[in-house]
Amino acid sequence: MTKYIFVTGGVTSSLGKGIVAASLAKLLQARGLRTTIQKFDPYINVDPGTLNPYEHGECYVTEDGAETDLDLGHYERFLNTYTSQANNVTTGRIYQYVINKEREGAYLGKTVQVIPHITDEIKRRMTLLGQNNQFDIVITELGGTVGDIESLPYVEAVRQLKWELGNENCIVVHLTLIPYLKAAKELKTKPTQHSVKLMSENGLNPDILVCRTEEPLYKELKAKIALFCNVRQDAVIEALDADTIYSVPLEMMREKLDVISLELLKLPLGKEPELFKWKEFLNKLRYPKSKVTIGLIGKYVELQDAYKSILEAFIHAGALNECKVIVKNIHSEYLTPENAQEKMHNLDAVLVAPGFGSRGIEGKIDAIKYARENNIPFFGICLGMQMACVEFARNVLGLKKAHSVEMDAETDQGVICMMEEQKNITHMGGTMRLGSYECELKTDSKAAAIYGTTNINERHRHRYEFNNDYLEAFEIAGMIPVGKNPQSGLVEIVEIPSHPFFVGVQFHPEYKSTVENPHPIFVAFVKAAKEAQEARNKVNRHLVYEHSVAEGL
Ligand code: GLN
Repeated sequence: MTKYIFVTGGVTSSLGKGIVAASLAKLLQARGLRTTIQKFDPYINVDPGTLNPYEHGECYVTEDGAETDLDLGHYERFLNTYTSQANNVTTGRIYQYVINKEREGAYLGKTVQVIPHITDEIKRRMTLLGQNNQFDIVITELGGTVGDIESLPYVEAVRQLKWELGNENCIVVHLTLIPYLKAAKELKTKPTQHSVKLMSENGLNPDILVCRTEEPLYKELKAKIALFCNVRQDAVIEALDADTIYSVPLEMMREKLDVISLELLKLPLGKEPELFKWKEFLNKLRYPKSKVTIGLIGKYVELQDAYKSILEAFIHAGALNECKVIVKNIHSEYLTPENAQEKMHNLDAVLVAPGFGSRGIEGKIDAIKYARENNIPFFGICLGMQMACVEFARNVLGLKKAHSVEMDAETDQGVICMMEEQKNITHMGGTMRLGSYECELKTDSKAAAIYGTTNINERHRHRYEFNNDYLEAFEIAGMIPVGKNPQSGLVEIVEIPSHPFFVGVQFHPEYKSTVENPHPIFVAFVKAAKEAQEARNKVNRHLVYEHSVAEGL
């Protein structure tokens, strides 16, 4: 029978529930248990696809084209397995389903209420992945903080499930904060006590407390928390601030979060977690042999979560290259042809980020021009690739008015245009080209060499496409569409073979990079950055040498 672990949060948001849930899942998976994680978000949007990144960080896209919470990215990166639409549920989706059923008359004249109709639907979804014996353990992360009005139906659903399935089949891990008061030089347990009390007022008691803290929790303090919060003493887990999120599984293992969970679920411990590859990765991450600086050009750069998967993909690819990747954020809105040199001359490589809308778009184009003309390794993702095409059209093909019709609907030089099937769409949610599509690569391309194959699958999230009317002109001038969708002929990858590394991709490779499988393009891009740096250093050394000779030194 599938067993359920719920991860809730107390005291404050941003404590890292997603990372704790993913770490526990990793440990259970490494013990040989079939484990998956899902996230329930209490907001009313049907999915985060329509949310501005400033509101909610990046929107993560799964293989099946679901636009989901960025925590699903952590789940995939940690577990190295795919998630799907079923792994992310929102209040909006639950209500939409219940209301549709009500309109169909499925409730037979009954009054439709939060309890039981909404809570029943929450429970149905919570246990959906547990059907058909696919998984031994389903971990469910509840978004939000206990005590929020919108979290109440979820807490109630978990209470009911615990009662229906029994405490040995359903446990609650509560993530909380133990603040350290510098003036008093003391760790404080009161917020945790209050948050557990709040939960128990709703009939739910946590089985395990994971306590985020800046200072180690001493034994007496753990005993006090256990006593006041009604949990086993060894179920008070210390979660000290970590240097990287990727060390959290090992920290949780040291604190026996997996062992205690399995004991409470009355499951055999099985073998010790096998984390050889993970530790190897962590070692390389912590002790890099070189470092590169890569410019991230985007319009949401002040908000770290907006480009989460890209930043994580750099961490994976950097570790594999034994190279620390320093990401320098460059706001595209403030980049101009005049200051491009000043802002970019020290970069070893440039990544132009995905995005929507025209804010900061000319800055992206200027950055691409600078990278192209100065032989700086360039990687453009989605909008980044589209703007690489616009830049090339304007400055190489001489199409001065070239643009994407997303930014300039009137242009007659729309090198990036809208797909026919997108033209009549009026709804925004879930109507883009989403999810995994096949792509065929030219055998002699850089991309084929990087992937080691000519047939790949990558995830998409966009409305606009390369305009195939310009295919030949681009090719003749030296920007080659090297990857196409075999069914539609849509361009998926462009390259400039005469440049050391100039790759633009219409899809989002960052979504598929994991600790155990860093994405090949990111790996090759970091390598190209290293090579560019070495080449630059060589030139600099040579210049210094020539200067010394000239000066007779
Ligand atoms: N705005 C562009 C489009 O819709 C690119 C989207 C993206 O970068 N994800 O096609």
